[in-house]
Amino acid sequence: MTYPKIEIYLDKIEHNTRKLVDICSKYDIEVAGVTKVFCGYRPVAEAMIKGGVSLLADSRIENFEKIKDLNIPKLLLRLPMISQADKVIELTDISLNSELESIEALSKAAIKLGKTHKIILMVDLGDLREGIFDEDEIYKAVYEILNLQNLELIGLGTNLTCYGGVIPRQDNLNKLLEIKQKIEKKYNITLKVVSGGNSSSIHLLESGEIPRDINQLRMGESIVLGRETAFGNKIEDTFDDCFKLIAEIIEIKEKPSLPIGEIGMDAFGNKPKFVDKGIRKRAICAVGKQDVSIGDVITDDRQIAILGSSSDHFILDITDCKNEYKVGDKVTFNLTYGGILSTTTSEYVKKVIK
Ligand SMILES: *Cc1c(COP(=O)(O)O)cnc(C)c1O
Repeated sequence: MTYPKIEIYLDKIEHNTRKLVDICSKYDIEVAGVTKVFCGYRPVAEAMIKGGVSLLADSRIENFEKIKDLNIPKLLLRLPMISQADKVIELTDISLNSELESIEALSKAAIKLGKTHKIILMVDLGDLREGIFDEDEIYKAVYEILNLQNLELIGLGTNLTCYGGVIPRQDNLNKLLEIKQKIEKKYNITLKVVSGGNSSSIHLLESGEIPRDINQLRMGESIVLGRETAFGNKIEDTFDDCFKLIAEIIEIKEKPSLPIGEIGMDAFGNKPKFVDKGIRKRAICAVGKQDVSIGDVITDDRQIAILGSSSDHFILDITDCKNEYKVGDKVTFNLTYGGILSTTTSEYVKKVIK
């Protein structure tokens, strides 16, 4: 067995997924299972499918390559690059869009490949990441899309609590629904899908305030960590430990807590600061910044204090631990969203299915 490794508990992923699918189904909302945080790793995507998601969603084409033979609709989350239009058509069924140039490129690629691609037009309700902000521009875009071949405009979408931290509420989501109704009337069409956000919309399900016409949510963090992301609250009856990082100890020594000599810069150009706690027992783990930052890990053994890290080392204070660690022992860490993202991205961290 090689270390560091990330243990992935598929039954917990499946359980969390089912729980969210159940909550959403009460409001006739379909769940798009978001696979980007684990880089589209196929076994986890399959666990989401078992848990009942209606589609799989990812932001990167490379991840769709890994799940291309899973028989379920695929939704591209990040606005497409024009340079990847062919791949978008080949590997996904639906994409979120806000730029006409890109949508035209998708139409051309769809004609070339003999496929029909579905478009969800993104509306920016104030979070200020992607989406059309100007209302007139939305209606113009709809008009243009309706005139493009091999595309089907299936609905509107929005994304909140990503850049601006804006919380989904009835007022901002109702704005989206108002725009939807205006489009339907103006162009005499039906928009089937209103993709009303991500894991930050869950609080509206819990309070029953979710507007009726919202019928799709795109869920990543809530499935992998059992957390809603508007306020960071735990979702009842879900697991927060579907992913665990395990690293091996390569040195244990008693050392002073203050470095000896004149302090210049650390390996990353920062001037480090230290607190003198006298001689402490320290352990070095063979995992480092290249895999994950220390702010994104939580030690299972709460008596371990993480002192710092460099590219390939975590430096731990184990003086207060009840457990008698030895060189070669393993240390287990829970992970934040960013921690799952970076460890599953690191080619040095082996994925192990549990
Ligand atoms: C990442 C992403 C999601 C999923 O967000 P979570 O907070 O992990 O649920 C949904 N929609 C878009 C557009 C995304 O980029």
